[in-house]
Amino acid sequence: MRRAFIAGNWKMNLNLASSVALVEGLVKATADCDDVDVAVCPPSVYLSAVAQAAAGSKVGVGAQNMYHEPDGAFTGELSGAMLKDVGCRYVILGHSERRNILGESSEDVNLKVHAALSAGLIPIVCVGELLAERKANKTMDVIRRQFDGSISGLTADQMKQVVIAYEPVWAIGTGEVATPAQAEEVHLALRKLMEDRYNKEVAETVRIQYGGSVKPDNAAELLAQPNIDGALVGGASLKVEPFVGIIAGARKK
Ligand code: PEP
Repeated sequence: MRRAFIAGNWKMNLNLASSVALVEGLVKATADCDDVDVAVCPPSVYLSAVAQAAAGSKVGVGAQNMYHEPDGAFTGELSGAMLKDVGCRYVILGHSERRNILGESSEDVNLKVHAALSAGLIPIVCVGELLAERKANKTMDVIRRQFDGSISGLTADQMKQVVIAYEPVWAIGTGEVATPAQAEEVHLALRKLMEDRYNKEVAETVRIQYGGSVKPDNAAELLAQPNIDGALVGGASLKVEPFVGIIAGARKK
């Protein structure tokens, strides 16, 4: 039985005071939440303050990106060890905004996944097709290519520690959510891909989140799908109430 996992990606939003206030609100609201894993991924400059405010609570903390080298002359970058040092448990890797706006390739993501695992972080690896790719019936080709490229070289034991987030790019921040059937189709295909590349145990263990305009009013229906194990949430994670509403949807699973 996979445990549901709801993570909030705050992207480049909020400030120090509102980040701490938001996590404090979530800590209170999730005090009795024993059946769902919850995490927030604030901008990196607020990680330390958010992790301190969340310490000892049900709210885990993740970064939105990292660099694959352990240290050295890489101006502006952060290592996995640094993220661990300030209290991170997770790191989002290969988000579509990094792939499509900042030019990150699956090879880059792959280096980061290996480095994250070496540093003891749980990578949340994002894959997802553009609208034009979906319209051209290329969804599964894209997902397969991004998945294979991003997790290349991982052992079965390492793969079991990874979380996958299926995020159709056309559904991110657009209000246009994938239907539960559209999302489930890709999640099931991803699980079969993991069985093919590894084995049934890996496929049954790895959690696959859905991301793309998840809101309190569509979360329960998406999360009721057998292969949707959680959500990666952008806009609706920026306030306590909607994010807690999504967590409530996961608790019904
Ligand atoms: C995201 O950025 O990962 C995301 C899913 O955003 P939103 O929920 O706003 O669509």
